[in-house]
Amino acid sequence: SLEQMPKGDTMRLRKRHIGESCKLFYRADPLKIVRAEGQYMFDEKNNRYLDCINNVAHVGHCHPDVVKAGSDQLALLNTNNRFLHDNLVVCAKKLSGLMPEPLSVCFLVNSGSEANDLAMRLARAHTKNHDVITLDHAYHGHLTTLIDISPYKFNHPGGSGKPEWVHVAPCPDVYRGKFRDVDYPNQDLGKKYADEVKNICKKAREDGRSICAFIAESLQSCGGQIITPPNYFRNVYKYVREAGGVCIADEVQVGFGRVGKAWWAFQLQGDDVIPDIVTVGKPMGNGYPVAAVITTPEIARSFRNTGMEYFNTYGGNPVSCAIANAVIDVLEKEKLRDHATRVGNHLLNLARQLATKHILIGDVRGVGLFVGIELVKDRESRTPATAEAQHIITRMKEEFILISSDGPDRNVLKLKPPMVFTHEDAEHVIKILDEVLTEVEDEPPRKINTNSPERRKLEDGYMSCNEKKIRIDDQQKEIISKS
Ligand code: PMP
Repeated sequence: SLEQMPKGDTMRLRKRHIGESCKLFYRADPLKIVRAEGQYMFDEKNNRYLDCINNVAHVGHCHPDVVKAGSDQLALLNTNNRFLHDNLVVCAKKLSGLMPEPLSVCFLVNSGSEANDLAMRLARAHTKNHDVITLDHAYHGHLTTLIDISPYKFNHPGGSGKPEWVHVAPCPDVYRGKFRDVDYPNQDLGKKYADEVKNICKKAREDGRSICAFIAESLQSCGGQIITPPNYFRNVYKYVREAGGVCIADEVQVGFGRVGKAWWAFQLQGDDVIPDIVTVGKPMGNGYPVAAVITTPEIARSFRNTGMEYFNTYGGNPVSCAIANAVIDVLEKEKLRDHATRVGNHLLNLARQLATKHILIGDVRGVGLFVGIELVKDRESRTPATAEAQHIITRMKEEFILISSDGPDRNVLKLKPPMVFTHEDAEHVIKILDEVLTEVEDEPPRKINTNSPERRKLEDGYMSCNEKKIRIDDQQKEIISKS
């Protein structure tokens, strides 16, 4: 048996000894996963689940090359980066090689949060400014500094609102954001959304404030699988630089080839779009904690010139680097970027066909294996179908498919599977989604919601919070949408 105790005991021990702020997926009936392989996860009863959410298990769960690289190095040496080690410099060389010039200096850290926190320190050292522009609904990590720049956290239960030095720009969502494609036909919405950042810079200056940095995911996943409109970053970067700030691309979720045609999602906006600082994490270690900040020699020099040493006990240790190097090698050897493009296109095409059949699907968008299916109650008003999305996620799990939802209204079905996801997997997900959508359409959502006390609570909470349709239960949202 792969269990040390029955599931009920695991749940009891967890409740007693693990902080209750750490939430489970599928709280009403959590999964106990005991092993995984490729795009599949197995529970204690050996049920096999198709994993459509685990962007961390990038080259597939427990990829043998990655496991071997890590375990071989663990048996040989693991220590801090104050000693010379080839794995560290090889890793930095590989990362730099995947970035456009002049991004060539790396800092190795242990998590996406550490990477973003360090990115802010670099930006402050370089610009000597303090204020940060962030996107609405963004999430950049769990550290104190990052909660401060994450509307996804500071605007929700337990948050203390927006700090004075933070400026929130609208999320460039052309489907349900401030500027919608239907309202501005044939207009450059990328430019229009970028003008919002320009106005923020102008207003900050008038108020006597100085911009230090603009930070954004290159494709906003926490905002609801948003495909950044063309010309957005090109313009934003220009305005932010003119205002004296630097531009940080958070590639923690969307980097390392997930988008297929490029290694980094910011590259989708054009070869001339180059951030000053890039943060990477999650997929980098295929589940092992390793992350990095990549910046320019000039910014790294400003940081050095502060005189303060940067030391990180585990950052860039030989095991983390062996693993990161193996992940990059597998991506190249197995041509997983091309694979992501092919399978992603197939998945998008199938999802678009499904949209012709199911009125609940308002929008299908994606690039590579980063896909969002936005559910709406009404295609005209684009009212979010939140309860339906939550119901679908639960039903998919009962059919052994793990998907999640995201976006401020949790109505965007989110697919970001391991890169080894196949054509057949895509077909299977769409087939089951088709069946589940039919069920939902046959049964009015109200009725669905009264079927289960858990879901009823969810729906009721949602209704009572009618004003801005703020999610009822942020924690539930968090567990559903985070990996
Ligand atoms: N940035 C983004 C865009 C993320 O999605 C996350 C994690 N969900 C982080 C940063 C933080 O990464 P970590 O959890 O590894 O600290």
